[in-house]
This record gives sequence, C-alpha cells and structure tokens, in this order.
Amino acid sequence: MGEVKRFDALVIGGGLIGLSAAFQLLRTLPHLKVAVLEREDRLARAQSGRLPGLIHAEWGHGSGQLNPALGREGRQALERFCSEEGIPWERCGGLIVAGGEEEEWLQQWHRRAGASGVVSEWWGTERLREEMPKLAGASGLFLPETGIVDYAAVCARLAQRIHGLGGEFFGETEVRSLAERSGEVIVESSGGPYAGKVLFNCAGLQADELARMAGAAPDLWMVPFRASFQELDAEGRRWVNRVICRVPRPGALFGPVRLVPATDGRVECGAAVTPAVSREIRAGWLRAWRDLASGMRFPGFGPMLRDGWPSVLREGWRRCRGGNLVDEVRLLFPELEAWHFDPAPPGLFGRALKPDGTFEQDLRILRQGRMQHVCFVPEAGGTAALAIGRDLVARAVSHLL
Ligand SMILES: Cc1cc2nc3c(=O)[nH]c(=O)nc-3n(C[C@H](O)[C@H](O)[C@H](O)COP(=O)(O)OP(=O)(O)OC[C@H]3O[C@@H](n4cnc5c(N)ncnc54)[C@H](O)[C@@H]3O)c2cc1C
Repeated sequence: MGEVKRFDALVIGGGLIGLSAAFQLLRTLPHLKVAVLEREDRLARAQSGRLPGLIHAEWGHGSGQLNPALGREGRQALERFCSEEGIPWERCGGLIVAGGEEEEWLQQWHRRAGASGVVSEWWGTERLREEMPKLAGASGLFLPETGIVDYAAVCARLAQRIHGLGGEFFGETEVRSLAERSGEVIVESSGGPYAGKVLFNCAGLQADELARMAGAAPDLWMVPFRASFQELDAEGRRWVNRVICRVPRPGALFGPVRLVPATDGRVECGAAVTPAVSREIRAGWLRAWRDLASGMRFPGFGPMLRDGWPSVLREGWRRCRGGNLVDEVRLLFPELEAWHFDPAPPGLFGRALKPDGTFEQDLRILRQGRMQHVCFVPEAGGTAALAIGRDLVARAVSHLL
C-alpha cells in the first residue's frame, strides 16, 4: 500500500456533476484541498461528454423529474456561468408538437407549466404554420426559456476553473473501495490510497455500485442503455432553428426524440435508446457478464424483464427494419428523406431500476455520514448540475469547518 494522499474533499467522477461539486466547493471555500478522481485518462468521457446540448426549461415530463426550484436555479447558474466564461449558448426556445389526439394532454401540460412557474405559450395550427411551415402538427407548446449549449465545453471550462482555484485532478484513477473510518473517508484506487474529510460520489453509471461498496443501500440498480443519434444535412438544418419534439409518450423510459440545433450550426436528432450489455463504454465479455450477473441478483430485474420485454422486442423489431429514429423525426418533418440523415456518435446512459421493477424518476442522492452518493440524475441533470453541486456542498460544509 502506497502513501495516503490526504485532502479535505474527494470527488469521484469527472463528469458534469463531479466537476460542478468540486467547482462550487472551491468557490465557497477556496482554501480547501480538493481532489477529483477520474478513472479515464480524460474528463467527461462518459454521459456528460455525449449530451445533445439541451438546456432544459421544464422539469417534470418525459423521463425523470427534478424539483422545479433546483432545476430553475441550475439553469440560471449555467446560463450565468456560460456568459461569464464566454462559452457559446443560446436561449433558442423549444417547441413540443401535438398531433390532433394529443392536444388535450398538451393543454393540461400548458396549465400545469403555468402553475409551476414555467413560461410557456400556446401555438395553434395557424401560428405553427406561420412559424414553422415545414413542421407537421396540429398545435404546439412553445417554451421560450429552453436553450442550447456545448456541455463538453462547459466541462472543460469547469476543469480549468477548478485547476485555477487549486483543485487537483487524478486521471486513470479508478476507485475500488471506500469506507468511513475515524473521522475520514478512505479510498483505495488504482492510483493508490486517498483520504478526505468528505467524499462526493459522482460516478454516474457506477455510483450505485460504489455506494454499495461503502456499505450504503441505494435500493437502485443502474441499467445501461445505448443512445443513438443522427445528424441532419445542410438542407434539413435550415428548417430547424429551435429545439423540437413531439409530445412524449406517457410512461416512456426516456424523453421523446428531439431535434436539437447545436451552437456550431449542426442539428442532432435523438436519442433512440436500446438496452446495452454493460455499463462500460469499452466493456469486454467478462465485464459485461459481471454487470449482467449483478443485475440479475437485484430484486427489480425479474419484474422489469416481465413487464418490459414486449416493448424491448417491439423496439428491436423496428430497429431491424431500419426505421425508428428517422421515422420518428419524419413524423415532425415529413419532407425529410433518408438521405438527409447521417449517423452521429452514440452514447451510453443509465436509468435507475427500483426493487419493484419500475424506474426511478427523481434525482436520488444518498447521504451516508461524510459521504454523499449521487445515485441517479434525471434527464435535465446536466442543466441542473451547478445547483446539484451547490446542494452537495451545502450539506458537507459542517464536516469541513
Ligand atoms: C439520452 C439522454 C440525453 C441527455 N441529454 C441531456 C441534455 O441534453 N441536457 C441535460 O441537461 N441533461 C441531459 N441528460 C442528463 C445528463 O446525461 C446527466 O445529468 C449528466 O451527464 C450526468 O453527469 P454525471 O457527472 O453524473 O455522470 P457522467 O458524465 O457519466 O460522469 C461520471 C464519471 O465518473 C467516472 N467514474 C465512474 N466510475 C468511477 C470509478 N470507480 N472511479 C473513478 N471514476 C469513475 C466516469 O468515468 C465518468 O467520467 C441526458 C440523459 C440521457 C439519458
């Protein structure tokens, strides 16, 4: 065992949540010694490096929910951070489009949005045609506060600011065990042992596994999913100047397929989501088998398979026929043809399975003495990262003063 490297705070994970926690901590208490432990050789290689770039303005639809106050605080903090740091972002607005039969549901949503302080505007058929002549749909709900940003650029700038404030990064450092002993948290990693007065476990798809290693009971098991994306060609791009999606299917596991214009002019469509064999991007068979075996021991696995396999089979069949994502986008823009689409790099994401076989919708943070485990972050989590980081710090401060 090598010499223990001692810090005030240890952060596991160099994604949006870990970087936000480290940044907020150093901004609040700049004298602290903070270490970010990341198992990859670069930061933000997992979920946070492959986001479509949406700044959410709505917190309770599609897949996952967030406390609206936390979501709003996060969005405003992100916009402020990007403006101060010169990161391109834009409040381009978002449009949720309804076919005739979905209109009533969207109307209800409009009323709920108003009640929870989300700014939204109803667009009838005429206004829809006027604003977006190529778009098919009976009506739409316009959310003017929806925006776009490059989250990889946000991660890179957070890392720079952390470094500037004296934070240290340890890459290729995989945490293998963690425990609280005699008033500190001890971590064993591929880079040797570390100790901290507090620890933030922000390991994304691995966070539940690390929480269990620490002796906590997260009551969740992270199911990995592969998300595919397509990019529109130059002609298709001209039709899309804001974030567009159809009304999400009630109970859908992930949010609806969205068209998201990027800050560099590209337009990405996605995600089409299918189950993955492992939580690792580059998993060998051994790792895939280990993940599967650990999932099969989780009580929610059986009920999930029983209730979920028909929709998984349907999705697989649609993919085999080559449709799916392109078909869904063409419901919005029927004039788009197959040649307007190019495949874009896929990503690996997770949803948290509960013991009853359903999926967690809310942000789930498990507090365990000096450790906090961020076990599940819903789909608007990137937008809310700075607020989640601030919340983690607020709850750790008593151990640091
Ligand atoms: C399909 C989809 C699309 C989404 N799009 C958006 C969007 O457009 N806008 C938005 O606001 N949010 C979006 N989200 C939500 C967003 O993905 C998450 O909120 C956010 O990326 C979570 O970041 P994270 O830091 O928790 O995880 P990650 O980015 O996965 O980071 C975790 C890090 O921990 C590291 N790690 C893991 N295990 C260990 C270990 N043992 N030791 C050391 N390091 C370890 C990993 O290498 C990784 O770098 C989307 C989610 C989904 C599912």
